[in-house]
Amino acid sequence: MEHGPDPFVTAQRQFDRAADYLNLDPAARTVLRDVQRVLEVNFPVHMDDGSIRLFKGYRVQHNMHRGPTKGGIRYHPSVSLPEVKALAMWMTWKNAIFHLPFGGAKGGVVVDPKKLSTHELENLTRRFTSEISIIIGPESDIPAPDVGTNAQTMAWMMDTYSMHAGRSVPAVVTGKPISIGGSQGREEATGRGVMIVTLEALKHSQIDPSTATVAVQGFGNVGSNSARLLAEQGVKVVAVSDVSGGIYNPAGLNIPDVLRYTQEHGTLKGFRNAQSVTNDQLLELPVTVLVPAALENQITDRNAARIQAKIIVEGANGPTTPEADAILNDKGVFVVPDVLANAGGVTVSYFEWVQDLQHFFWSEDEINERLHRIMRDSFARVLSTKESNDVDMRLAAYIVAVRTVADATDARSIYP
Ligand code: GLU
Repeated sequence: MEHGPDPFVTAQRQFDRAADYLNLDPAARTVLRDVQRVLEVNFPVHMDDGSIRLFKGYRVQHNMHRGPTKGGIRYHPSVSLPEVKALAMWMTWKNAIFHLPFGGAKGGVVVDPKKLSTHELENLTRRFTSEISIIIGPESDIPAPDVGTNAQTMAWMMDTYSMHAGRSVPAVVTGKPISIGGSQGREEATGRGVMIVTLEALKHSQIDPSTATVAVQGFGNVGSNSARLLAEQGVKVVAVSDVSGGIYNPAGLNIPDVLRYTQEHGTLKGFRNAQSVTNDQLLELPVTVLVPAALENQITDRNAARIQAKIIVEGANGPTTPEADAILNDKGVFVVPDVLANAGGVTVSYFEWVQDLQHFFWSEDEINERLHRIMRDSFARVLSTKESNDVDMRLAAYIVAVRTVADATDARSIYP
């Protein structure tokens, strides 16, 4: 897979565009352009064969002016410090656009979780949690799932932190199983948010959803739930992909069948009733909406000119490089940026955290209804900023986000 530009350089370039546009105060600009805290840990894990392996992990807190920091934990072989720093900064903007009372953070471990046994993964997760427990906590920094982690990972993290504390601390992580204080609707929340903003983007572009086609890159938590929920809304999903490649049927894929197939086989490879395409080909298919829901740097200056979609909804964080952004804007593609498109996850994480702190839980309908409202309001806020400033959606989202965080920075002033 192509590596592409350094994600933190991308994140800083995106920030600079907004800071220039806003003529941001130099103090806020200096502070917000970099991350506040970086914790790098090298930690040993007992492997099943009796050996001990050293793993590298990070927890980065970009900014905490608006509240405790929040963001997921990624397990992937390509995790790096610049990537985690970028992801932490993007969390700050997401939380600001959605008016969630959090700053931004992210963590990661350099590991391929598919190559570890469940027992090894548990050992790794518990030791990593222990290492970063000096900076996480329900009032300071609250992790959640990301690529390569899930509700089980969060359960081990919650249990490890609680064992250290000598009491149960459910609010230290979100995205937990329901049985230990997880929230209804959290698992599918990012995909549900993607579905909601896709319908909003179609409405804005005056396209009837029943005539639209969608291609989804990535079939993990975000990609699979986005595809399922869009199909349930009557939007025709014609292509999906995972690391093994993609499947394409111009007449529309039967998503429940595809989901059953991946549950059984663990991969899309071999699915019948569709032609196979590569991940690169999927991005260039003649569709109405493209949902990149895999990793960073998928839409670059090498393929942006060939993209045929009218709308791009960024389920992943950082899938589009700044060069590609410029090309897409020239072509008139309507891009719903990551910090707006995929914030359904952290929004329901916020609901989970509030429920844990109050020991009072809401129904699934209540969660989905609140998520719907907050997604629609945030989309409308960014769209009206786009229209009143005559800028693209990413710059509009950054204008909203940077202004919101800079106001907090300004109000608190620089200590001492
Ligand atoms: N990892 C997700 C994201 O990138 C969720 C973060 C959270 O729920 O805190 O937004």
